[in-house]
Parts: sequence; structure tokens; C-alpha cells
Amino acid sequence: MNLILMGLPGAGKGTQAEKIVEKYQIPHISTGDMFRLAIKEGTDLGKKAKAFMDQGDLVPDEVTIGIVRERLSKADCKSGFLLDGFPRTIAQAESLENLLQEMERSLDFVLHVDVPQEQLMERLTGRRICPTCGATYHVVFNPPKQDGICDNDGTELIQREDDSEETVARRLEVNVKQTQPMLDFYHDKGYLVSINGSQDIDKVFEDIDQKLQTLV
Ligand code: ADP
Ligand code: ADP
Repeated sequence: MNLILMGLPGAGKGTQAEKIVEKYQIPHISTGDMFRLAIKEGTDLGKKAKAFMDQGDLVPDEVTIGIVRERLSKADCKSGFLLDGFPRTIAQAESLENLLQEMERSLDFVLHVDVPQEQLMERLTGRRICPTCGATYHVVFNPPKQDGICDNDGTELIQREDDSEETVARRLEVNVKQTQPMLDFYHDKGYLVSINGSQDIDKVFEDIDQKLQTLV
């Protein structure tokens, strides 16, 4: 099962990815998560990515394509993968096509989690994440059982640095511009599946799952 999750920041990609991965046992490959981990660990990659991320801008293509290439060549991707947050530019999409061709594989679906832009600010500023397991919560829409504490491992939840109102505005602006060409690209190739992401979290997953069932 070779999948891409697409959608604006806050559309619910990470939230749905957790559910897809649990049910279908494919690795969740989030370029944002990979960059955040690199920054936390202070690697060269982290140093390269940090300044761009702090501004809400995209990390340069050659850096981003390099880490995805490396990740997809790992053994756990043999049975499939779920890309989240990649590709975001036509150059990235074309590199991915070439890479998959080299690997003699092809995409199954590009799942577009579609949410009107005006709902996203509230979703993003209310987002809380677990720094230990990466689980995503929302203070109103998906609260943990105990306020501010991760259900899975009891860690205190944090807010992502780039989920401040100012950076969110910049990220939305950057992403709205980048997303449409990606949707057109995959629509033309026949991979695009549009999912109504304004529904509650479980219903969004039901719709995704219905589609994925056609692959098994
Ligand atoms: P993305 O990975 O696309 O940026 P997330 O999965 O992190 O988005 O979701 C952004 C925020 O919105 C999180 O706080 C999450 O709990 C919340 N959220 C996700 N899906 C929904 C939904 N269907 N309805 C309401 N809130 C949601
Ligand atoms: P969101 O979708 O909520 O904006 P992500 O976690 O996907 O957040 O990405 C966070 C940041 O990481 C982005 O603002 C960008 O700086 C960088 N990033 C992630 N994926 C890519 C990508 N495919 N190309 C370039 N930069 C990326």
C-alpha cells in the first residue's frame, strides 16, 4: 500500500496517519517529524532545516528529497508507506515519481484531506502533541483523558513552536500556494482521492478506510 496524505496544515493528516498506520502496519513517513527530530538531536540536517522551519518556510528541495530517498530505501518500506507532508513542490513530486520508478513501484492513492481554510487556525493553535510518542491532541476537539497529559505514556503535552498564531498564518499562506499544483499533478495522474476532512475524526477515518479496503 503506497500512499500519500495531502492537505493544508491542520487538516488532520497526522491524526489520520496514526489510525492508518495502526490498522495497516505501514510506516508513517512525515518529513516535518523527521526535521523536528533532527533539530532535537542537533544533527547537520537539523541545522540546515531549522531557520526555514522557524519562519514557516519550506526547507529547500534538495535537502528534503535527500531524506525521503534515504527513508524509502529502508527495509520497512517494502510492504508500503504513508508519506505525510511530502511532496510539497512539483520538483519533489517529480523526484518521487523517478524514485518509485527506480524501485519498480507506483502509488496507489493520494488522499487529500480537504478542510476549508477558515477552520485551520483554531485547529492549529489548539493542537498539543506528545514529545515522547508523537500523538496529536486538540484542547477542544480531541482532548486527552487527563488535561495536558498524553493518554499513551503520561508525558506532559507540549505546543509546537510553529503553532503560534503568527507562524500559522505564514504557514497557511505558503501552503495554500503550494498545495493546488500538487493536487492538479496527482489528479492528472489519476491518483487523487478527496476526503471530507471537516467531519469528526472517526468519520474522516471511516471514509479513508473505505477507500483503503479496495486495496486489500
Ligand atoms: P496536520 O498533520 O494535517 O497538520 P493534525 O492531525 O496535527 O494536522 O491536526 C491538527 C489539529 O486538529 C490537532 O489538534 C488535531 O487534534 C485536530 N483535528 C484533527 N482532525 C480533526 C477533525 N476531523 N476535527 C476536529 N479537529 C481535528
Ligand atoms: P504542517 O503541515 O503542520 O505545516 P509539518 O510538520 O508537515 O507541518 O512541517 C513543518 C515544517 O517542516 C514546514 O513548515 C517546513 O518548514 C518543513 N517541511 C516539512 N515537509 C516539507 C517538505 N516536503 N518540503 C519542504 N519543507 C518541509
